[in-house]
Amino acid sequence: MKIVRRFPLFLMCLLLSFYFAASSHAKESLDFKIHVTDSKLPNVAIITTGGTIAEKADAKTGKSVPAVSGEELVKAVPGLAKVANIGVLNFMNIDSSQMTPAIWLKLSGKVNEIIKRPDIAGVVVTHGTDTMAEGAYFLELTIQSDKPVVFTGAMNDASAPFPEGPGNILNAVIQASSKEARGWGVTVTLNSYINGARDVRKTQTTNVQTFKSGEKGYLGYVYDGKVTRFNNRIRKTKLPLPSKLPPVVFFSTYAGDNGDFIRYAVDKGAKGLVIDALGAGNVNERTCDAILYALSKKIPVVISTRVYYGSVEPAYGDKGGGGMLEKKGAILAGDLMGTKARLLLMLALAEVGNNPEKSKMYFK
Ligand code: ASP
Repeated sequence: MKIVRRFPLFLMCLLLSFYFAASSHAKESLDFKIHVTDSKLPNVAIITTGGTIAEKADAKTGKSVPAVSGEELVKAVPGLAKVANIGVLNFMNIDSSQMTPAIWLKLSGKVNEIIKRPDIAGVVVTHGTDTMAEGAYFLELTIQSDKPVVFTGAMNDASAPFPEGPGNILNAVIQASSKEARGWGVTVTLNSYINGARDVRKTQTTNVQTFKSGEKGYLGYVYDGKVTRFNNRIRKTKLPLPSKLPPVVFFSTYAGDNGDFIRYAVDKGAKGLVIDALGAGNVNERTCDAILYALSKKIPVVISTRVYYGSVEPAYGDKGGGGMLEKKGAILAGDLMGTKARLLLMLALAEVGNNPEKSKMYFK
């Protein structure tokens, strides 16, 4: 009987212990500080999220697994203390194949909070390379600062004969500390080359020179402690961070596609669709019918292209042509790659609701 009488008290103590544990974890994640070794040097925050750069070969399998903390990553970088005072925030340690827009939303909130501090010159984010281009673009759209935010990572883990992670972190900190790098927005910097978040793609599965920006070219180069600017291509599309992201589905169409997945996604509650179309923005007739079905349900549809470079154009007026789709209300993504167009549509829908005319403005 005693236990029954005391049960509410016991339950209360249990719930309170959970609350303090959670808030203390939350407190830890807020507890970021710069270790000043030289007050004349700029202060740079390094926020670590995982990826190959923070992995080591597993003793049993020999395969890469998450194994290196943010502090250990920084310790492995020669000469860092001569470049900047560093503060490390271990945001998480996951392979970027596990990243989601919801995680990037939290990461962007954290970067915004740190970068607005007057003592911070710039921020470096270490991240897996598999989804780095998209993650960098999500922050490009949502970071409210023109200070440098530099994504970097590595194609070889810390156990490899030539782990390039430490050198990439050094270059990223040099860029994040430098005034020459202001105004570029979020960049992806590996192997010395600086790419803008909007146009960068991962182009090679294993090579260290994997990130390229195609016809647009690199923004600049980091070498021997300094940043060289090649060009000033700056896109200033900015959107506020919403509390929640609407579900937007991405498809790549192909010869013989029957559009069933598009219909399925609409019936399952997708709030927006992005279709990587053929050529300059064309789909076959059955896929076109499925897109018209989505539009009839007032679901915005963005047309991007599978083609690596060049822009989606309203060139074809026959059924399924980009010109016909645009006339029927589809939004053309220009030269923005489809998986990034999905992030832009998510943020636009969160901001303007289901208003295709207003969403369209963000794709201009
Ligand atoms: N699978 C790894 C990741 O994306 C690849 C890398 O970081 O290079 O996390």
